[in-house]
Amino acid sequence: MVIGHQTQWQFLKKSAETHRISHAYLFFGQSHLGKRIVAKEFVKLLNCSKKENHSFCNICWTCRAIQKEIHPDLIIIKPEGKEIKISQIRQLQRFFSFKPHSSLFKVVILEEAEKMNSEAQSCLLKTLEEPPSNSLLFLLTEHPRMLLPTILSRVQTIKFFPVPKSEIEDYLKANKISLSDINLISSHSFGKPGLALEFSKNPGKLERAHQIIEEAAKISQIELPYRFQYVKALISQEQDLKEILESWLRYFRNALRLKIGLSSELIISSSFISSFPIFKLKRIINSIEKINFLISTTNINKKLALEQIMMEL
Ligand SMILES: [Zn+2]
Repeated sequence: MVIGHQTQWQFLKKSAETHRISHAYLFFGQSHLGKRIVAKEFVKLLNCSKKENHSFCNICWTCRAIQKEIHPDLIIIKPEGKEIKISQIRQLQRFFSFKPHSSLFKVVILEEAEKMNSEAQSCLLKTLEEPPSNSLLFLLTEHPRMLLPTILSRVQTIKFFPVPKSEIEDYLKANKISLSDINLISSHSFGKPGLALEFSKNPGKLERAHQIIEEAAKISQIELPYRFQYVKALISQEQDLKEILESWLRYFRNALRLKIGLSSELIISSSFISSFPIFKLKRIINSIEKINFLISTTNINKKLALEQIMMEL
């Protein structure tokens, strides 16, 4: 089920109704917004074996196999390590070279498409230039600028935005989550339905997210040597740094939105945040964004990278 993203969904639905489906779509926006879910729902709409009146049934074998990602006409490609390699793109091309097994379209969902190395991107370009008939490709990414301009010019781009809190709350209510949990989950989800789902299934994860933000709020109030000790502890505990950095990012972005009047809700009330000038918040956000990107795409020294953020706080 798609939570939010109605504009994007209606656009896709219309393209199916008017038979103007593109061979390749670029879905871009932050992580956990539901880009892959929207792609899969669209594939169900196109391939459902019982489709009526431009909708899909969600119960036929095709719909269920797409949902579980086991349909023979659907593959999902993810980075192997830090990259998507040319061999994976060749696998995609081989897959597209055969006729569909049992549906109308053969579909590839390429996750974190920005992680294609340059060889892989050049190789993919051939597919985009001469798309096989009945092929459908989704490139999902947070960083479209990492893709070749020649790729960007050959795909239909659809941008995804955070979902209004009320829509996430409605979904949680419909799933019988208790009211107090709904509040906490929706506050910590920052408009990301994927996070809300994870939190509702995993209370430990929600608690951890809360703790990370509390820590972020405290760090700026302590002396630099203690901040470095905190970094050392984070590294030695081998915590998921990407998760931590993304939590910090959400927190400081929220603080900035609050400061410039775009939001009225602060997740953890914290007096120090109001003392931060806008330029400082922007600098912190830039710094975390940069480090987050480097950590996921290169072999940067994590300790040094986190220390750099500590100095910005
Ligand atoms: Zn169906």
